[in-house]
Amino acid sequence: MADLVIRGGMVVDGTGAPPHVADVVVGDGRILAIEHPYTGAARRSLDARGKIVAPGFIDIKTHSDWTLPVVPAAESKVRQGVTTEVIGHCGYSVAPALPGRVEMLREYLAPSAPWLPFRETTFAEYAETFPRTSVNTIMQVGHNTLRLMTMGMERREPKPDELTSMQRLLEEALDAGALGLSSGLFTAPGSYAESAEMAALGQVLRRHGASYATHVRNESDHVFAAIDEALAVAEACDIRVQIVHLKLSGTNNWGQAPKVLAAIDAARSRGLRVHCDQYPYTAAGNPLRNLLPMWAQDGGVETILARLAAPAMRTRIRADIAASGLTSFGRIPSWDAVRIAISPHHPEYAGTTIAEIADQRSCDPIDAVCDCLIADRGATRVVIASMSEDDVREILRSPTVFVGSDSFALSPSGITGTGKPHPRTYGTFPRVLGHYVRDLRLLSLPTAIYKMTGGPAAALGLIERGLIRENYRADITVFDPETIADRATYDDPHQYPTGIETVVVNGIIVVDGGEHVGTRPGHVLRRSSRGVG
Ligand SMILES: [Zn+2]
Repeated sequence: MADLVIRGGMVVDGTGAPPHVADVVVGDGRILAIEHPYTGAARRSLDARGKIVAPGFIDIKTHSDWTLPVVPAAESKVRQGVTTEVIGHCGYSVAPALPGRVEMLREYLAPSAPWLPFRETTFAEYAETFPRTSVNTIMQVGHNTLRLMTMGMERREPKPDELTSMQRLLEEALDAGALGLSSGLFTAPGSYAESAEMAALGQVLRRHGASYATHVRNESDHVFAAIDEALAVAEACDIRVQIVHLKLSGTNNWGQAPKVLAAIDAARSRGLRVHCDQYPYTAAGNPLRNLLPMWAQDGGVETILARLAAPAMRTRIRADIAASGLTSFGRIPSWDAVRIAISPHHPEYAGTTIAEIADQRSCDPIDAVCDCLIADRGATRVVIASMSEDDVREILRSPTVFVGSDSFALSPSGITGTGKPHPRTYGTFPRVLGHYVRDLRLLSLPTAIYKMTGGPAAALGLIERGLIRENYRADITVFDPETIADRATYDDPHQYPTGIETVVVNGIIVVDGGEHVGTRPGHVLRRSSRGVG
């Protein structure tokens, strides 16, 4: 007898093909049959008439390694229909954490993971002891973390033995099943690496058949050079590259989305394996200290905070930002565009813009930024409205750019339910399907679902996942195409979406009648020579 039959829904299978009505039969964690009608027996029958039955969504770009150990039920993700997450992006990973360097890693990730307990661990131990969660997890090791473990925050090239150390740590992570390496060349210490260092690590990836995901060196005034750098590393090493959260930041770069997409298409047509992802919002999220000029980010947190206390340094920061905009984000229309998301030591600041804080204190915005960072021990996280809606739409329409939230799994109750995190945390997938597909008709439903399922599954090499197909793993999301919508806003972000009715992970129901039932059937999916599974 089957475990579950989902009856009469419109199956959108994840390949981009149009919907067809069928019964989807689940048993032993797999899709046993797709028939119309199914006449066999099943322990549970769900009426899905009028609903879409899709593969579970793959969030190819996340930082849920910062939260899953404290919120293993991954509420903000599964309630969006997400069944698999790729973690460890942008150069940040929680492992390896080597003896004597744990505190450094904890301090480094404080703006991102203030709630996470850090401990000494190899990558293999980390993967082995990862908690049981409601979603499947695919791990990456971060270049910034490897650099921290090997050479701290030092701004220089690695010595040969240090490069060998980084290669060895990368190799250990890959042997433990990591998908590949992520980089965050936009911020220290990743930003201290030259392309040659990335290529040396890329050679290790090539030997293992692993891939490279990069938050490129610059997403504003030098975005084209930064994308070229990522493509060149992939080409030199013959590896797959994923350019994450593709965007054009800074008012003077707005309108160039067609040119960026053309550059990536050209690379693809000359044979490069290049993929991209995007979140459907005009604001980004980042630690506040990353907005400072690069020189001001040098050193550990103590060094940075001591620098920010000095009036002469503030004058220099003010002049640099006036001349060339914010690091990574370029020129913003005003300081109203930078809003505090999470301030662990001053939670009352959450939701307030830098312009408002400057106004309240009758001070200059740069003084407000420096004062906030000092008061918050450098741990403040912000949301920055730095993109244009036209560019967001142009990139979203491209069938070759996948959907990735760039967020972490949260729960609205408990320690992660605080502050004003970016609304993408709760809203990414339903926002695409409701706002952009149904309301604006920017792209078709099968194309949007392909960008969330079959497309990323093929790019990642997932074994028998990402499609509604017989014998595939039963990761399934059922939603109402008429009511699916994001509800999370910048002012009120801890809001679940509407319209997601059933979510099945590895054949087990996690969301039933729109509610999380507390099951945690997720697996850690490891890369091997056969693929990722
Ligand atoms: Zn990033």
